[in-house]
Order: sequence, then structure tokens, then C-alpha cells
Amino acid sequence: MTEFFDAPARPGTAAALAREFRDAFGEDPEGVWSAPGRVNLIGEHVDYTGGLCLPLALPHRTFVALRPRTDSTVRVRSRQETGEVVVALDEVGAGSPSGWAAYVAGVPWALQQKGFEGPSLTGGFDALVDGHVPYGSGLSSSAALECAVAIALAELVEAPLDDTGRAGLASACQLAENVVAGANTGGMDQAASLRCHAGGAILLDTDDDSVSQVALDLAGAGLALLVVDTRAGHSHAGGEYGRRRADVERAAELLGVPNLRRVDVADLDAALDRVGAEPDGEVLRRRVRHAVTEIDRVARTADLLRQGRADGIGDLLNASHDSLRDDYEVSCRELDLTVDVARAHGALGARMTGGGFGGSAIALVRADRVQAVAEAVDAAYAGQGLTAPRFLAALPSEGAGRDL
Ligand code: ADP
Ligand code: MG
Repeated sequence: MTEFFDAPARPGTAAALAREFRDAFGEDPEGVWSAPGRVNLIGEHVDYTGGLCLPLALPHRTFVALRPRTDSTVRVRSRQETGEVVVALDEVGAGSPSGWAAYVAGVPWALQQKGFEGPSLTGGFDALVDGHVPYGSGLSSSAALECAVAIALAELVEAPLDDTGRAGLASACQLAENVVAGANTGGMDQAASLRCHAGGAILLDTDDDSVSQVALDLAGAGLALLVVDTRAGHSHAGGEYGRRRADVERAAELLGVPNLRRVDVADLDAALDRVGAEPDGEVLRRRVRHAVTEIDRVARTADLLRQGRADGIGDLLNASHDSLRDDYEVSCRELDLTVDVARAHGALGARMTGGGFGGSAIALVRADRVQAVAEAVDAAYAGQGLTAPRFLAALPSEGAGRDL
């Protein structure tokens, strides 16, 4: 039976969480806030080299009911985890606390590092979390959690919540993830969770953190974006991610540029010749070719979307996957299978999305083909004895905000 992972309605989920907070902590929360997971349409593994990406917020969100405290303790529970984590704010820092609470307690720490001020940042809080973004599926449950906490604290300290203010929150959340949680990720996930709007994707330029909104009326074009959570996660993913970043940084250094965004696609051959002359030149060539062509594909995808030609982006999605599989080498069996089956069953384009080595793939399909493509993917997994995948419909949704 093909399993779709639906997002629950925001108001009911927030109200239930507020009641549960009261039961857990004995008082009403000050409010309930939520932030979405995201899926990246195109522009993969380029957010740490100044590239462009085109993520959209999912309808699947993580909710946080929160109440400031008068001491400097952070006390937090999650409906997805057992037990309670209690940590003093002055004990928060690199690698502390460990585990899931890093994504919560790291946020006030990072906001302070970034110069945000206010009693709710120094004073601690009680929080209860309820996440509806699947964990570890490449859909960024980690950023959803950080960003829900960040939007709550920002509102309590009356920080501006316009796009510029949200950009500052996003960079604080990235800092929390990099330092406190110890995950060396780029800034796409947090930008998407905080800066997206319903009905569109954002074209994020990670070179200067600027964002432009790109309307994404898939339904109007008779299309749907199907997300396939492969349920596969490979233990070496973190190490490989670090190695790809190191490759890209080394290539930029060899080319004398701060990042690969500065290499124009028209100058690609010269850049490939230059890095190809190194002892590990063959690998560096492929890494550079992926980054430079991927950034170009994002720009071309955004142009097509702005012309209302969502049905014209399929080839770019396909080329993105092939580049990630062959040149960047971050795909895996489950992702390739999903993409191949989706393409064979009429997807206009399909690609892995997120960091790779498991996680999710997306397929752009005619709206009336969603079920058929999902069933074909399901059957292919069953045929190969793989854990059944899960499916989500990616409706471009609203970024982080207050629910109650
Ligand atoms: P992804 O962001 O792709 O889902 P990550 O490994 O980056 O995967 O983040 C997943 C981790 O984030 C979880 O293992 C957990 O530590 C934390 N997390 C996410 N959502 C929640 C939640 N609702 N409650 C507690 N921890 C969460
Ligand atoms: Mg994550």
C-alpha cells in the first residue's frame, strides 16, 4: 500500500501542543510557533561554495510551544523523543548539549553570538516540540526545529521579522547547527525554512545571502512535485559531505577564487584544465564541473519558472541528478532507482534532493500521474527487497511563523 506522509493542519496541531505543554509544565505557553521542512528543487551541494539554489518550504512543519523562564535554564521535551533535557544557558557551546537538544538550546546561544539581545535570550525557557518533518530524510527536520525556536525567541525579544531580520535568524540557526550540533552544513535549509512564502520557491544566492521569490504554480500548470523519502540513510554520509566540501574548497583555492560561484560556466573548460593538472585532478575536475554547471542550471530553472514554464524544467532536473550521481558521487542505489523508475513512468524530470547517500528524491509529474508514479516506485523497491519508501506532496508553503 503506497504510503503518503501528510502534513497535519496547523491550527489543530498548535492548539493540541499548547494543551500538552500545560500538562507537562503546569502553565500555558507564551505561544506556539512553527517552521517548515524544505525540499530543494535544484541547486544541490552548492550552498557552501557561494552557489544558487531553489528550495521551497514543505507543508510539513515542526511546532514549538514555548514559555520564557526567569532563571537561565533551558528545559525541553519533544513528542518525538523520550525524556526531558535540562541545560543551563552558560553550558551551551561547541558540542554541548549533545543530541537532539542541541538544535533547541543552540539557538539562543547562536542568536547571542550574532548580536541579538533581550531577556528571553539570556533568561532561558521551557519548550515542547512536535515535529512533522520526517527525520533524516533530507527534508531538513533539523532546520525546521532550529527555525521554530528562532522565530519564537525573535518575536519575544521583538526582533524585526521582515526578510532582512529573517536572514539574520537563518544565519544564527546555521551557526547553532554548525557549532552546537556539530553538523558542518551550508545555509540553504535555514534560509528556506525562514524566508519562503506559500506558492513559491526562493532563489537563494548563497554568495551574498540574497533571496528573490520565484512563483511556483505547479497546480496551475497541471503538475505536482512528488517527494520520495527513500528511507535509506548511509552512515558514511557525514564524512563524504566533509570530503566534498574540502574538494570544492581546494579547487577554489587552486583557481584563485573565494568560491566556485566565481567561475563562469563560459570559463569552465579553462578551470577544468587548471585543476586537472593536479595529482588528484580527475576527481577535482568532476567536482568543479558539477558545481559550475549546477549553478548555471539553477539560474536557467529560475528563468523558466519566471516565464511560467514549469513544464520546461524537467531536463534541468534530470541533468542535475546525473551530475550529482556521476561527477559529484553523492547518490546511492535507492536514489538512482527512484529517479530511473520515475522517469520511466512519465516524470518530466527527477533528481535526488538534499545531501544525498539516502534521503529523498523528487519527481516533477503530471498531477494525474502522481499515484501511478508513486506506485511504480513502491513496486520497484519491493521488487528489490528494499524498505518501502514514503511519499510526500510538496506544495510550496509558508515559512516560519506564529500559530498561537
Ligand atoms: P534532516 O535535517 O535531514 O531531517 P538531520 O540529521 O540534519 O536530518 O536532523 C535530524 C535530527 O534533528 C534528529 O536526529 C534530531 O536530533 C533533530 N530533530 C529534528 N526534529 C526533531 C524533533 N521534532 N524533536 C527532537 N529532535 C528533532
Ligand atoms: Mg538537517
